[in-house]
Amino acid sequence: MTERAKLCKGKIMAGAKKRVLVTGAGGFIGHHMASYLVDKGYWVRGVDIKEPEFEKSRADEFALLDLRRWENCLKATEGIEEVYAFAADMGGMGFISGNHAQILHNNSLINIHTLDAARENGAKRYFYTSSACIYPEYKQTDANVTPLKEDDAYPAMPQDAYGWEKLVTERLCTHYREDYGLETRIVRFHNIFGPRGTWDGGREKAPAALCRKIATAKLTKNPVIEIWGDGEQTRSFCYIDDCVIGIYKLMRSDFHDPLNLGQDRMVSINELAAMIAKIAGFEIKIKHIEGPQGVRGRNSDNTLLRKTLKWEPAISLEEGLMKTYGWIEEQVREQLG
Ligand code: NAD
Repeated sequence: MTERAKLCKGKIMAGAKKRVLVTGAGGFIGHHMASYLVDKGYWVRGVDIKEPEFEKSRADEFALLDLRRWENCLKATEGIEEVYAFAADMGGMGFISGNHAQILHNNSLINIHTLDAARENGAKRYFYTSSACIYPEYKQTDANVTPLKEDDAYPAMPQDAYGWEKLVTERLCTHYREDYGLETRIVRFHNIFGPRGTWDGGREKAPAALCRKIATAKLTKNPVIEIWGDGEQTRSFCYIDDCVIGIYKLMRSDFHDPLNLGQDRMVSINELAAMIAKIAGFEIKIKHIEGPQGVRGRNSDNTLLRKTLKWEPAISLEEGLMKTYGWIEEQVREQLG
């Protein structure tokens, strides 16, 4: 541990606010999490390669650091008691299915170095954001899929490099806990969505992309929107406010195995588009085109989540979409001028 880290630890013991690091704090979930932790009374350091795009970070300190580099991870974790690790080179299906080498390379470096720097600097707890993308492709071939339990992860066969890297980092976290006593918590998100997330540019995920397409259709009075594939592929979607509550509950719990965090209400992409169009108050015409669709069906089994946290996401898809659509329509309106 460096001398400065020891000094900072001394301050913590003297009764100062608990110092936490949020990596990826310039991104969607990290930005919301940093605000949540500030409200909870923590001293928050946010780190990212970019500032949040849509509003200023409320973190007490915000540093622009490339976490692929070990020395930057040491700076980021200096004097930090708990790490919330969200930094990742990621996006929706279009990005994930077309950038395997880049994703595996960058995210491996980010995660190996951040975790090890946290250990080196004497952090006590480490939260890692895994994904439903770790689940094997062979369990997700039917749109009417059986919800995925945590134990379904093995024998492993994730669809993309993104999922393989997440799975390996899950293992790394587990071994750091067992071998070095760093308390790790691991969550597998199922499609988190909400305002102030990426909504255009190629990295956006399905709910944001559909909100943008429908807002554009409405504002330009051209009802045709494109959907990749036949739109019958299924997913569940969890609103960001539930997501940050779930993360916090897991971080404060004793549970250290990977845990699903998402809604267990499955809808098809066509159904999702219809729900958003209803919220927009605009009739759309869907044109199905070729494009990456990911697995055919995916849903979360929340049995372990309910048992472990005595809680599960409560905000309905309709309510979450209403807030998300409203925000994205504003962005599109501004863009169109
Ligand atoms: P996001 O892309 O909005 O945020 C990730 C942030 O990491 C970005 O701001 C990006 O600039 C930053 N980053 C990338 N490379 C970096 C580097 N080298 N150094 C420092 N920062 C870097 O994504 P998000 O939706 O907020 O996702 C957060 C985490 O949750 C990610 O680990 C992601 O894989 C995971 N996850 C998200 C979802 C979801 O539905 N959003 C689902 C499963 C897992």
